[in-house]
Amino acid sequence: MRAAVFKEEGKPLSLEEVPFPQRNDGEVILKVRAAGICHGDVHLVLGEWNGDLSIKLPVILGHEIVGELVEDGKRFKRGDQVILYSNIGCGTCKYCRAEKPQYCENVKVVGVQMNGGFAEYVSVPESYLFKVEGDPIKLAPLADAGITAFNATNGIGMGDSVALLGTGAVAFIAAQILKSRGAEILMGGRNPAKLAKAEELGIPTVLMKRKDNMNMSQTLFSYSQRKFDYVLDFVGAESTLQDSMWLLSREGELRIVGEFGGFLNVPEQLIVLRGLRVRGILYGSMNDMKGVIKAYEQGSFKTLPVPYKLDEINEAINDIIEDKIIGRAVVIP
Ligand SMILES: [Zn+2]
Ligand SMILES: [Zn+2]
Repeated sequence: MRAAVFKEEGKPLSLEEVPFPQRNDGEVILKVRAAGICHGDVHLVLGEWNGDLSIKLPVILGHEIVGELVEDGKRFKRGDQVILYSNIGCGTCKYCRAEKPQYCENVKVVGVQMNGGFAEYVSVPESYLFKVEGDPIKLAPLADAGITAFNATNGIGMGDSVALLGTGAVAFIAAQILKSRGAEILMGGRNPAKLAKAEELGIPTVLMKRKDNMNMSQTLFSYSQRKFDYVLDFVGAESTLQDSMWLLSREGELRIVGEFGGFLNVPEQLIVLRGLRVRGILYGSMNDMKGVIKAYEQGSFKTLPVPYKLDEINEAINDIIEDKIIGRAVVIP
């Protein structure tokens, strides 16, 4: 089968013929219909990831997968279209039992530590699949961007004011979910084309310019002259984290989603005297996967896919690096 193989950091993915995937116990083979490209994939390809991933090369990346079963499984039938929850846990620890395998000590991510979806076929554990109807290209971003956005917006709703820092696929989905729930939102970013798209979707925005001293929170405050119940940081860089907690109302909550590697430097008295909270958002639970599929089916948001053929994957990666993609690049094998 044809696949884009990650062989060496800093080099383009290698498009080649590879053996058909081996099916292990509990797994089913999917014919991949669409696979989204996440920023994490790009960091891996460029060799920029400084987290503690134990990744062995060569590997086929791609963790945002929608596919079709090529044979009957135990829960699904041949031809069923499914979406993958990509964080595969041990199945027995307290996090796995709570259906939050993303926190399992032994978690393995499909398309990172195991071969993923940038290929014609992939073998995946059947118990991590969810049935989905509709256009696979539009559905694929739910598998990572969507579930993460759903987790990042949990418990936020009508009447809450929310600042969103960043304009990637996760931020776009989160903003639309919050809008559909009647929250009051404001999105800050640096890319005028992305902010124009957000405005088109009815999301109010603020453009951060170079002269704003690379401090998103100050920029949002000087524009809006107000504080927020929630600040959602989809970047996690110095420019977004700096002063982000000063942007919070009393009892407000900062949720950090992005993994750009910035530092959060906060006076403890600010947290104590104003009763603030900080929460990290890593992917989502299996329940969040069900939630985001339902919200999508109800029409709460669009996933904004930008399709590429598998053979165009390196062009897609370049377009992401050059910040040209509004929404999510999705590969069709
Ligand atoms: Zn990802
Ligand atoms: Zn576990």
